[in-house]
Amino acid sequence: MSCLFCDMEKMNYIGENDLAYAIFDKFPVNQGHALIIPKRHFESYFDMTEEELVSINRLIKEVKIQIDHKFNPDGYNIGVNIGETAGQTIFHLHFHLIPRYSGDVEKPIGGIRNFKESLVPYK
Ligand SMILES: [Zn+2]
Ligand SMILES: [Zn+2]
Repeated sequence: MSCLFCDMEKMNYIGENDLAYAIFDKFPVNQGHALIIPKRHFESYFDMTEEELVSINRLIKEVKIQIDHKFNPDGYNIGVNIGETAGQTIFHLHFHLIPRYSGDVEKPIGGIRNFKESLVPYK
């Protein structure tokens, strides 16, 4: 079976180490929206090894510095969708690193909490 992230051309890489690589998202929600992806094919965050987590974390920090220099954002969200119910559409684990800019949404409070209506009021 073909996989977009297993078949990714190296020319698209914006960073790489032993176990992971990074690209800019093809459909960015904000300028500089990046994806950090393990090289091994597996679906879930919960199947990741400690070594992969360390490599991915290193790359998140490297790419963050690149994004800071290029786009100078005011904040970040880091997100992982795990399972179709949670919105995962590409079933090869990836971390979204999403730069945030003042005023990019009307009410930023709560950040990634806001994907769904709360069960009880939040602030
Ligand atoms: Zn894959
Ligand atoms: Zn995704």
